[in-house]
Amino acid sequence: MLHTSYIELDGAALNANIKFLKSLLPASTTFSMVVKANAYGHGIEDLLPMIEDCGVNHFSVFSLAEAMRVQECMRENSDVMILGFVDDDYLDWVIDKGLSFYVFTLERLQATVEAAKRARRPARIHIELETGMHRTGFCEDQLPRVWQLIQDNQQHLQIEGLCTHYAGAEDFAVRDRIKEQVATFKRLCDAFEDHGINPRYKHTACSGALFNYPETIMDMVRIGIACYGFWPNQETRMSYLREHRLTEDPLKRILSWKSKILSVNRVPEGKYVSYGKSYLTTRPSKIATVPVGYGYGFSRDLSNNGHVLVGGQRVPVIGFVNMNMVVIDVTEVEEVKVNDEVVLIGQQGDKTMTVSSFSDMNNSMNYELLTRLPGHIPKVAKRQPAPAMMG
Ligand SMILES: *Cc1c(COP(=O)(O)O)cnc(C)c1O
Repeated sequence: MLHTSYIELDGAALNANIKFLKSLLPASTTFSMVVKANAYGHGIEDLLPMIEDCGVNHFSVFSLAEAMRVQECMRENSDVMILGFVDDDYLDWVIDKGLSFYVFTLERLQATVEAAKRARRPARIHIELETGMHRTGFCEDQLPRVWQLIQDNQQHLQIEGLCTHYAGAEDFAVRDRIKEQVATFKRLCDAFEDHGINPRYKHTACSGALFNYPETIMDMVRIGIACYGFWPNQETRMSYLREHRLTEDPLKRILSWKSKILSVNRVPEGKYVSYGKSYLTTRPSKIATVPVGYGYGFSRDLSNNGHVLVGGQRVPVIGFVNMNMVVIDVTEVEEVKVNDEVVLIGQQGDKTMTVSSFSDMNNSMNYELLTRLPGHIPKVAKRQPAPAMMG
């Protein structure tokens, strides 16, 4: 092992998640997997071929840089859609490569027309509509200008989609806000149709919307967190499992984060461990070090607070998390030696460290914790157990 830790990706779990999510959609709905923020920390380059093996070939990213990475490693028949940032300097490149992207300002629409003229190739665009989130999207009073620009430049624009994003589809407290957005979106789509613009894809649903508002499933869905095996929040998980009388969670985590024991030492009672005086042994102790610290994505918030799995047991982090190391208390673990596996996130024996228990934050922070995993941690595919032999 060259690096001090690695991320293991479980292709079978990914496949199970995608199969389950697709089973909730009409066959005609395009499944776009959201791989922004380095595929939610899982690693774009490593995960992409695994996703394609599961039969998904449409990817959504936020930025141009992410789109370039996807475009570099995706298969010939796969497609990228940029939901957010494209610098003006790169519009020509994006159009030339045939990537699709969101347009949500008049300036961008105008610049897109000019770039498409230069590229001699129509730009594939998705028009984002403001329906109540008040973040990005064309407001209703801008639409006459949008329609005019589209009509005047038909040969330069290939309008592929009309779309919007909900202001918290996982949060039941904002149900009224979401319902109003759905109604506004439908009304605005009708207005486009009245102006002769009726693109192939109308799309609005993210993971939360897919589970909580099936009416938001249209010609395409943009699913992120659920593909990776996480519910957008606990509320959505519990409500979905209850409503569908499921006893087993259909979503499986695909990521594990693992390292190895670097050293094991004995420490007498009454000694301070690691920097400063934040941890004092209260018994003769056995301590071990793990070569991950805040410089490698193991948050300093976990000082005297986090846990890891060693020898099939959950053991505490003691003292401050250092830049390159943490100290753990393995007094209770009978046989523990250098190079033993340490699980930071994932399973060992019958114990699990979830992403949320990895920190002391609540479950809704899965998004943040995942995307904070450093991109440089190497990824390996989990080896699937051989099928059981008959007879
Ligand atoms: C991130 C994002 C999604 C996916 O959201 P999940 O909750 O992870 O499914 C969908 N649409 C847009 C516009 C997004 O930014």
